[in-house]
Amino acid sequence: MFLICQPAHAEISEASFNETLTALQEIYRPKLLTDLGLNLHFESFWIRRSMIVSSQARKIGDEAVVFIDGELAQKSQINRAAFILTVCHEFGHIYNDKPGELRLKKEGLADYWAAGCAAEFFGQNPTDPVDSVPTFLIEKCQTDGNISMTACLQVASGIHSYAKFNGIDLSKGIDTRLNDRVSNSHLHPRPLCRVETFIAGLFGAEKPACIFKTGASKDPMPARSLVN
Ligand SMILES: [Zn+2]
Repeated sequence: MFLICQPAHAEISEASFNETLTALQEIYRPKLLTDLGLNLHFESFWIRRSMIVSSQARKIGDEAVVFIDGELAQKSQINRAAFILTVCHEFGHIYNDKPGELRLKKEGLADYWAAGCAAEFFGQNPTDPVDSVPTFLIEKCQTDGNISMTACLQVASGIHSYAKFNGIDLSKGIDTRLNDRVSNSHLHPRPLCRVETFIAGLFGAEKPACIFKTGASKDPMPARSLVN
């Protein structure tokens, strides 16, 4: 709960927020049009407009509308790569959501897809990560990655940022055994499951079973979600 009370001092500036959305738009506007026949339209607000969600995707006619507000970008623990994962998660809904599917599965698939999307973004916009990346992820980028090292490390730094935001320590690796025991009772998979899913998506591994697990959660403190 401390995360909610945390003072918001911007790590991402308003200018960077807008520039990042423009850069994402340059890649994904033509892709969405070619792949799905949809026109991408961002509804972005630096100042939060909704008390319920901070990002959302909808298909309206031939438009893919992605709502993003600046609240998350203004959290000190959220770096630019994690913000890009957020927007990519919304693109993931546009690409993957099927009517009648469980919300939880939709969220898991959007996370998995988001990691590849973020890697594609950094492949086209190569910059060095500004944040530390856990050793096990650096090693995975060196041995398992089929993308450039710079792009892999950037996405890994975004996953690390998301993990820290949710109080998950990745310094000694990721222990996913909890994901095997605990089901999800919320609309989103639990944060540890989401971290496992982002990592699987980044390295093209199998989708983790935890994104399909529903039922009562034994987690005493459901962490807040980064993306919707
Ligand atoms: Zn979502």
